[in-house]
Amino acid sequence: MTAPITAAAAPARRSAPGVTCPVCRVPPHPRTFTCPDCREDLAPLAFLRSRADRAYNLGLDLAKHGLGEQAVAALELALADDGSFVDALVVLGKVHAQLGNEAEARAAWQRALKAAPDHPSATAGLAHLDRLAT
Ligand SMILES: [Zn+2]
Repeated sequence: MTAPITAAAAPARRSAPGVTCPVCRVPPHPRTFTCPDCREDLAPLAFLRSRADRAYNLGLDLAKHGLGEQAVAALELALADDGSFVDALVVLGKVHAQLGNEAEARAAWQRALKAAPDHPSATAGLAHLDRLAT
């Protein structure tokens, strides 16, 4: 018997990620969001990061309440801001699988594996689809 794919098995919510200067690779000053080395304002970057996280968390909530189509929209929004957001890709695959959209589920999990090779949930999801296909 294969394990069911459920949003309840989704990864934990991502906490607010630490932003670092993409050039200097150092965190900003905590109060000003300015890079201490190059003085670049990192606030827009932090905003985009938090927007992807908020959309991801909304997608998780919608999925857990059985609102798959809305969850897909929220997760796609998160991915528009952060195309390699692995947890969002994994959950998107699970929601598509629950909706019966096998091609979309497979595509999401394959994207997740590109960003995080051997990701256990993406690997398990693809294996589950392969078992269904045989
Ligand atoms: Zn910098």
